[in-house]
This record gives sequence, C-alpha cells and structure tokens, in this order.
Amino acid sequence: MDKLHTEINRRPIIAGLNVFFCNRLSEEASVMWKKHRERDDSRIVDLFSGQLRSSLHCSMCSHHSNTFDVFCDLSLPIPKRSSTGEVTLRQCLDLFSQEEKLDRDNSPMCERCNRRTECTKRLSIQRFPQVIVLHLNRFTMSKWSISKSTVYVSFPLTNLDLGPYGPVDCGSVLYDLYAICNHAGTVNMGHYTACCSDGNGWCFYNDSSVTPVTESQLQTNQAYVLFYQRSNSTASVRK
Ligand SMILES: [Zn+2]
Repeated sequence: MDKLHTEINRRPIIAGLNVFFCNRLSEEASVMWKKHRERDDSRIVDLFSGQLRSSLHCSMCSHHSNTFDVFCDLSLPIPKRSSTGEVTLRQCLDLFSQEEKLDRDNSPMCERCNRRTECTKRLSIQRFPQVIVLHLNRFTMSKWSISKSTVYVSFPLTNLDLGPYGPVDCGSVLYDLYAICNHAGTVNMGHYTACCSDGNGWCFYNDSSVTPVTESQLQTNQAYVLFYQRSNSTASVRK
C-alpha cells in the first residue's frame, strides 16, 4: 500500500519538516495531520490513513506529553485465551490501548525532567480513517523462533464501535466489515485467501476460484487482517 501511495502521491517531495509546538492537544494533532497531507496526498491516504496518539506520563514530574503518528493499519496483540476459550476483537483492542509501564531503559527522555524516567504510555486513535485495517498479530517472534497463534478471535460484521479508543469526546465511531484476509498454514508454509463483500453478499477468493459464502462461514481462526469501512459517514469507499 505504501508503494501504491508513493506512485500516486499528488504532492511533490518537500524536504524537511517544520516542528510546531502548540498548547492544545487537538491543535497539535491537526498541525501534524496538515503537515502529513502537504507531503502525502493520494487515494490511499484518503481511505486508509489515520492518526495515532501516544501519550506519555512521567512518574517523576507527572508531565504529560503526546506524539502523533500516521498509521495505515493497526497491529493488535492477541490476549491469552480466556477461561471460556474465546477471544474477542474488543479484547485485542483493549490490550492494544491498555496503559503500558515503561522502565527507565525503554522510556524516551521526559521533556521536563530532561532524563529517562519510569513512565506510562497509552495508545489511542486521534483521527479515524475511512477504512481501518486491523491486523491480528498472530506471529510472535522470540529470540530463536517465530510462532503462529491459531486462537479463534471473534469479530463483529457490523457496528464495530471504535469510539472508546478515540478522543474522549468523540462519541461512537462505527465501522462495518467488508473484507477479511485469511492465513492458513504454519510459519514456514502458508496460504492466503480472502473473503470480500460486494454489498449484496460475501465471496471467498482462493487463487483462481471465487465461491459465495454465508456470513456464518466468515469467522474462522485463520482470520488475519480485517478491513472495516466507516459506516456513519457520508463518503463511500467504492467510488
Ligand atoms: Zn518528567
């Protein structure tokens, strides 16, 4: 997707990037977003780009700071299987946005203390994209090997509310599923397939074959990347 965007970027290359300091959080986020759009402007950005906020809180001086990054997909950790054996997409999102403690070695410099301190970090969505790509992080890298999780993660087909992961006053932000990328197999040998909705029904795409599927066949433990389209907005993806 990055390559596609680079080829169809409507903006010329601009060297250097001014850094702005603003007091208000939303202003700062808007300035960063504007800067991004001045350099990167394509149909890919229109549809897939969002803004992620990373909030840091210093345990020594209580200073709060924010950084904003552009994202085209969110990579969600899969929590350990619950006692019922089922994991939901919401649990993955909760874990993704959960406050994380950083020790001194892994924390960035505190702007106020001017040194590395223990701090907490929390990720949230500052700006919602038209299409949000949710990657279920099934592959875990350890020191010596890579392993794949085949945990069944259930996900809603309609009305996924990402409002709780956005700015405090954003209300509900609803998305409907329109495509799934599946990964079958192991770390060493795998096969990708897809399920896509054309608005009338769902089809299963497997290399050269396309077959209709029912909604009940969509949820499997092979679901790997989920594509959700914003439902409570006027713009449409299929234009
Ligand atoms: Zn500090």
